[in-house]
Amino acid sequence: MSGHTDMVLVNEDGIRIDGRRIDEKRPIKIEAGVLKNADGSCYLEIGKNKVLCAVYGPRECKPRHLQDPTKAVVQVKYNMEAYSVTDRKRPGTDRRSVEISKLIAEALENVVQTELYPRASIDVYIEILQANAGTRCAGLTAASVALADAGIPMRDLVPAIACGKADGNVLLDLNKEEDNYGQADVPLAIVPSTDEIVLLQMDGNMTRAELDHGLDMAFAAAHEVYEIQRDALKRRYTEMSKKEGDSDE
Ligand code: ADP
Repeated sequence: MSGHTDMVLVNEDGIRIDGRRIDEKRPIKIEAGVLKNADGSCYLEIGKNKVLCAVYGPRECKPRHLQDPTKAVVQVKYNMEAYSVTDRKRPGTDRRSVEISKLIAEALENVVQTELYPRASIDVYIEILQANAGTRCAGLTAASVALADAGIPMRDLVPAIACGKADGNVLLDLNKEEDNYGQADVPLAIVPSTDEIVLLQMDGNMTRAELDHGLDMAFAAAHEVYEIQRDALKRRYTEMSKKEGDSDE
């Protein structure tokens, strides 16, 4: 977020470098149940971001000192692959991935009914295969679908999307150029049934009115992402019941 470039990020007609309008999110694809050996899984694309999520559990919590006698712990490992960005990233855990893992775990703890599984662990692995800004939102959106696919009881899904500002315009769902050279980036995750906010960060600068406008766009878009999450789960259940039906014959 340098806020400075010669590149025109939004042209006079209000069109962005990837052809989107200012209030348009990138195309989203979600598929649940893509991995056989995980308890639940999800593959998600939003624009050029590609994310795979696997869920295990509830299972014995390791290391044991993390066990909570009153509820399950949600452990998240967000990892950006070395090949996920154009300039090769140093593989492995860094401060950024530790922070993102923690805030995704905290967002999920608001919806997972952890009190049902004392001492257990629910493990969520998020692999960023290709990154183009918005990966924490993409990872969280995929994680709640994978948790539902694993049959883990939850109050609701958690759709996430960012708003922000570039070239003086309030924008929905920033891409890499807008994130790098724009003036603000505001990832948001919500619980759609109550409109509670479970993740909200802001990096950069915006006026109060711009932030209000951005959040309005992001809330509306998060509800649309929610429908895409639900569709993915419906397709998964239809597929599973069809398979069960076939094996009964
Ligand atoms: P988010 O992906 O949630 O928007 P950031 O704002 O930290 O998180 O990162 C924005 C984008 O910058 C990422 O999606 C990715 O494309 C790129 N990026 C982040 N970290 C690195 C890194 N270590 N090396 C190269 N590119 C990176």
